[in-house]
Amino acid sequence: MNQTEQFDRKKTIKLLRSRNIAPTRPRVDIAAILFSKPQHVSADDLIELIRKNNIQVSRATVYNTLSAFVDGGLLKKLFISPTVLIYDSNTENHQHILNEETGEITDLHDIDSESLKELAALQLQKMDIPLKITDIQIFFKAKSTNSILQ
Ligand SMILES: [Zn+2]
Repeated sequence: MNQTEQFDRKKTIKLLRSRNIAPTRPRVDIAAILFSKPQHVSADDLIELIRKNNIQVSRATVYNTLSAFVDGGLLKKLFISPTVLIYDSNTENHQHILNEETGEITDLHDIDSESLKELAALQLQKMDIPLKITDIQIFFKAKSTNSILQ
């Protein structure tokens, strides 16, 4: 293991401890993969990444770890359909574009989420539904994201 990897593990252990997550070896290994860059992964994508990195952990551990990271505020759940759950390693407030052809998810940071929340609250008020909006997630579905993001 080189010095950079050691530093990253130390940083990862500190991060997990700061969220009251016991830094067990599998959790640190999984966190190192998940938080190496901002990414959107399904549990299956993550399991594949873990196998590619020659890390031995059971599926159950992966699911438990994902759950612990969500509870600790390190990951955000994105339901891109009622049956498809994606984990976002970027927990900052942002929206997404889903490329319907490739399944690729792209972050949209310049959308004013607060305005969207207000708009949704106003619509609910009109329908006499007294809910307090805590978060809003919108997927802009597109055929291709290339032209939008260049
Ligand atoms: Zn995202």
